[in-house]
Formats: sequence, structure tokens, C-alpha cells
Amino acid sequence: METNALNKTSVDQTLDLLDKNITDSQRLKPVPFEEFLNMLNAKPSHMLRNIFQTFHDMIKCYVDESEDTIAGDIDKLTFTKYDCSRLFVEDSENPYFTDMLFANRFMKQMEYLRHGAQQNRIYIFYGPHGCGKSTFLNNLLKKFEIYANTEEGLRYEIVWRLDIKKLKDKDKSLSISAFEKLIHYVEKGEGDGMKHEPIFTDTNADYIEVPCISHDNPFLAIPKDQRRIVLDELIKNDEFKWRLFTEKEYEWVFKEEVCTICSSIYHSLMERLGNPSEVFKMLYARPYYFNRRLGTGISVFNPGDRPLKQNIVSNEMLQKRINALFQDSNVINYMYSRFAKINNGIYALMDIKAHNIERMVELHNIISEGLHKVEDIEERVDSLFFALMNPEDKRSIRDFPSFEDRIQYIDIPYVLDVKTEVKIYNNIFGRHIEGSFLPMVLENFARIIICTRIGKKSMALAEWIKDTSKYKNFCDDQLMLLKMELFSGHIPKWLKEEDIKTLDNTMLKKIIAESEIYGKEGLSGRDAIKIFDQFYSQYAKEDRLINMPDLCTFFNKLDDQPKKMIPQGFLESLLRMYDYSVLQQVKESLYYYNEEQIAKDIKNYISAVTNELDSIVKCIFTQEEIHVTEAFLESIENRLLSEDMDKKRRQEIRNDVLKEYTTRALTHEIMIEGKNITETRLFESLYDRYVHNLKKKVLEPFIENENFRNAIKDFDTEKYKAHDKRIKKDVKFLLDNLSGKFGYSTQGANEACIYVIDNDLANKFK
Ligand SMILES: [Zn+2]
Repeated sequence: METNALNKTSVDQTLDLLDKNITDSQRLKPVPFEEFLNMLNAKPSHMLRNIFQTFHDMIKCYVDESEDTIAGDIDKLTFTKYDCSRLFVEDSENPYFTDMLFANRFMKQMEYLRHGAQQNRIYIFYGPHGCGKSTFLNNLLKKFEIYANTEEGLRYEIVWRLDIKKLKDKDKSLSISAFEKLIHYVEKGEGDGMKHEPIFTDTNADYIEVPCISHDNPFLAIPKDQRRIVLDELIKNDEFKWRLFTEKEYEWVFKEEVCTICSSIYHSLMERLGNPSEVFKMLYARPYYFNRRLGTGISVFNPGDRPLKQNIVSNEMLQKRINALFQDSNVINYMYSRFAKINNGIYALMDIKAHNIERMVELHNIISEGLHKVEDIEERVDSLFFALMNPEDKRSIRDFPSFEDRIQYIDIPYVLDVKTEVKIYNNIFGRHIEGSFLPMVLENFARIIICTRIGKKSMALAEWIKDTSKYKNFCDDQLMLLKMELFSGHIPKWLKEEDIKTLDNTMLKKIIAESEIYGKEGLSGRDAIKIFDQFYSQYAKEDRLINMPDLCTFFNKLDDQPKKMIPQGFLESLLRMYDYSVLQQVKESLYYYNEEQIAKDIKNYISAVTNELDSIVKCIFTQEEIHVTEAFLESIENRLLSEDMDKKRRQEIRNDVLKEYTTRALTHEIMIEGKNITETRLFESLYDRYVHNLKKKVLEPFIENENFRNAIKDFDTEKYKAHDKRIKKDVKFLLDNLSGKFGYSTQGANEACIYVIDNDLANKFK
């Protein structure tokens, strides 16, 4: 049947596809040690990486460093702008958003990590409830798992292939039954057959495969005293070689012992084969695959996870076979602890509570000794230890004072940066929320939340800016709004020249140092989301946008608890800052006249005054049709001349322009000298006056011109049609600029202008 045929084809195609894709991920099978040395020769810095270096490389791979400086004019950077979105946001179900302060702190620690100065430490991410710690760590581990299994992040580990024929002279009794192999495979607990070469399918195997449970780098199988010579031979003389031989971060390559199991296998083989090259023929390198779910390379414990009764793991079947092969039951002890599985990997505790307190104590010895005792065998544990901690859990480890210098705390505070806080709302409620707000209002919501998280007093700021009253239009008297700008990496435009000069690197560092204590109190991330939800459901409307009065009303009516956290006068200052900013935007949008536009206005004006009032003419310079009305002339005169002109004065100006035009510009300059209208004295003087007044009186239409104000208010209504054509053009121009330059929708631009008019902002900041 046709359907069957079709099905068959698509099934075949699917299988082909799987075949192709899965082969890709399986590509890297165990390779002989010789080939490993070839790879080491080709990419030494890639092949010689411990967990700390690999983790650092992972961070470097996912975090983008921006070239931008924090504030163009400060030369020496205190901050780097890190974009951590590929690390914490992309492809994650629960994104974590880092602000600039945290990103800088985090990246600094990651840099120390690589250099090996901070090994034998436990990194505790420490922060208040609701700061997103567990999201942070989960995303971090997830990305590491992905990275470590890519070609870029891949490392190799030891696997022995003990050649039965060679070791036992073809002893038939030792051939392995398929059943035994299957058990071996399952017992290894690494049944992610997609990636490993499944041993049990290899029915004619003539070797016993013994993996290094400690995931040791194959290079470490080389005796310590030979390593330097080998590397000197193998690696070309370049910068990397110099670093390898001199830097602390590579000490492990020369000093670290291979695990006790591998070491005893090596020695047993040496005894029997007598020749190192024969021993290394049985040494293979296989990819170190990370799998959090199986606890391979990454183990994560929650406080409720019960400790295992049996901490020591062995593999009886494999042990029996090894013993039979070497005919000695004590030479090679295939026994290890759970910690071996995360050697060269990551061990993480989600919160120091319940059973995780015991685990933390257990880590005590391991971290200080770098060793773990498995019966009488010493097992080395070089791992990256992470833990999360809430402030109240600090007392759980208070009884271990020696712990303190083994712990590296990394604070995860609440978000202190406005943009990051807004990103969180967008992520939770959807990007569309932005469209319900007038520009800057959503950011101001975030500012109110953040103000509860930062200190009210600042010694550094008091030292820097002595007189705060000069900034009363832009900032609160505690300068918290200024602090927030700096935390976001901005030097606000409204800062006075003298203060920008004194904001040097030292001062900036002092301000940032103060920020270290912020973000531990105030409204948590969870609180903020709850309050936002409340606010948004109450104020988001179909027909109008959320504005500043809405925001102030909401927070003024808020329950006592959160409201008490907002400093007195903060809302008023925020409103004043908003008013000033929106007025600046309107001003810039009105002034944004290009030369062409000005020239056109002047040409049309000259044409208009040379014609009768109420006539409709075509301007000989611009070819535009002009209806010469009083309103038309006034609208241009308002830009040309000073305020408060009466009718008489206007008439004088028109007469002057007419006279200059007819007696000089037209009859002499244009007709005799052959000049263009724009080169005439009349045009030039009008042009200068126009620009001069434009700058001075940019807001005048808002203050002086009733018609203009009415036109804005009538915009988009039936009444708007009746307004003067010229005024309508100005209104349209203003609204278009607000949209183009500041991201307003047309409706939003109109609402913002009405806000400016209704609150008489033009006069307020005169
Ligand atoms: Zn080993």
C-alpha cells in the first residue's frame, strides 16, 4: 500500500538522520595513548586543562566583554561591561540576569580560579532569599555540562585496556563471557550508551577495560620525573610552553599523582611487561563525559538528599578479573569513593541545610587536605566545590573556625541595576508589558524597587558632591538616583562639569566599594514581582499608557510594609526627575530642525510677505503652495523674533522684510549679481535670527501658543482637523521626533506632550 511505502521511506529517513546525528556525538572514541600525545602536541593548551582551567575557559567562551567603556570620558576602567546572557539567559528555562556590579565581581573570582591560587576552596554563593541563587547555580552547571561535552570543552581521561593475550599467554579460561561483560558495563554505572563505546557489544574483546574512576588526565600516567622532559620534547617553544613551565596554574601537570588504581595498574604492568612502551600500549585516552543526572563529573546535592550508607564503591566482577589476570589479589585494589567520580569535576551543595550540613562538614577534610581516605587508600580530590547559602545558615558552619579561610564567599545580592531589573519583569510578564508604559515609567518602577535595596547614606558621595541642592531637578537629596545611574555604568548627562572632573577612578572605586554591602535588604526579587503584578493588573489599560502619576499614586497607597522601605521624599524626587527628563525630550524633539527645514521656512516666509493676506500662492523658491494667513505668518515669526510681539511690531517686521527683498535681495543680489536666494543678506540675517531664537525659545509654543497647545490636545480627534495647517505640521513634527528619537508610540508621544502641558512643565523648569 502506498501509505505503507511512504511510512517506510520516512522511517528510513528518520533512522538515517539518527544514524548521522548520533555518530557525530559518538565520534570521539577511546584513542591509544600515542594518538593522545599527538593531540597534545597539536593543541597543548587544550589537552592540558584541569577542572579550574576548563571552568574558566567555559566562562570565557560564554561571556562577552564589551569594548565600551563605562563612561567614554573616564580613561581607566573600574568596570568592564560583561554580557552574561549566553551564559545565564539563552536556552535556559529560568534565565538569570546579572547586573554590572555582580558580573564584575563574578568574573574577577573566575580569573583567580584559573590561576590556581584559590584551589582547595569552597565557593559559597551567598545571598538573601529570593535573589535567584539556585537559578544562578543551576544555569551555571547546565552550561558547564554542555560545554564540557563539546569539542571545545572536551578533556580526556585514562582508560586501561589490559591485553589478555599479552598478559596471560592466551589463557582461554580468562575469556570473558558476554554476561559478565554486561554486568561489568551496568556496574560501572555509566550506562549512557549513546556516548560510550558499549563494551558488551564487543563480543570478541581481548582486553579488560578498566576506566579511571578519578577521571585523571592520561598525561598523568607518565611518571612525575619524566613529565618535564616529555613536554619539552613534545611541545614547540612558544608562549604557552613558557607559561606551562613557569606558571602556578600549571603546577598540577608536574606535581599531581595519578590515582592509586591507575598507579598500581601501571606498576603491575611494568613488572610483567618490563618495558614502558609496552605498558603505554595498554593505555588509552577517552573523552571525559559529564552527566549531572548520573553524577559523572558533576554531583549536586539538595538538603533533603539522604546520605548513602555505603560510601565506598567497588566492582567485584572487575576486581575478580583483574585479580585473575595478575594472579595476585592485593596488587590492584579497584575501590573508590563517590568523590572519585567528581574528581576533576564539580561538587555542589544547594543550600547548607539538613543533610547538606553533614556534607559540608565532610568536605572539611577533603578541602584542607585535598585528599579523601578510602579505607587505607588515599584518594585525591581536586574538584570545584560550590555551595549556596542564605544568611541565616551561616551559623551552621560557625563551629568550624578553620573553615573560614577555606571558604570564598561570592555575594549574590538583589539586583541593583535598573535595566537588569526591567529585564526580569519582561522575562516574567512578557515583553509586551513595555508597550503599556510611557517611556521611562517602567524604569522608574524599577528605581523605586531598587531604592529599598541600597543604603541611604553614602560617605563617598558626600565627599564627592558637597552641595546636592544644584541637582534638585534630577535627583533626590541623598543622591540615590545618581548612585543607581553609576551602578548601571552611566555618568548622567545632567552632572555638572566640575563634578565629572572630580569623579576619578579613586572616587568611583570608593562608590563601588560601598555597593558591596547593598542588595542584602529591601524588597526581594520575589517581592518585586508580586508588587509589579499588583501594579500592572491595576493600571494597564487598553486606551491609555501607564504614566508617572499612576506610579506615584500606586506606591503612595501601598501597604505599610513595603512603603516604609521607600525613603521619605524619594517618590517626589523621582517625579521631578521624570518631569525634567520628559521636558528635555520634548525640547530636543522641537528643536530638531535641520537646515533644510529652516531654509524652507524662511523662503516661504519671504514669499508670503510679498503677497496679499489670505491669498494662496506658490512660493517661487520652494514651489510649495502657501495659504498666506495671519496664523501662517505668526508661526514663522514666533521662531524669528523675540516674545511678546504686538500686531504693530509684527507689521513692521513684515514691511522690513518686504523692503529689503524688493530693494536689495531681488533687484540687486539675485538679478544683477546672480546670487541664489540663500546667499542674500536678507536670507542670512533671517537664518541667524531663526537659529538663535530656536535655541532660546524652543519651548515657547508650549508656553505662549494657545493654538499649539490645543492642537496637541485635539490630536487624533475630530476637532484636530480644524486647526491651522502649519500648526498641525509642527505638532506632527514634534510627535514624530519623540517617536523616532525616544521610542514613543504616536499615542504615547501625544500623552507625554499633554502631560507636559497639563503640569505646566515648561514654566516649572524655566
Ligand atoms: Zn586513575
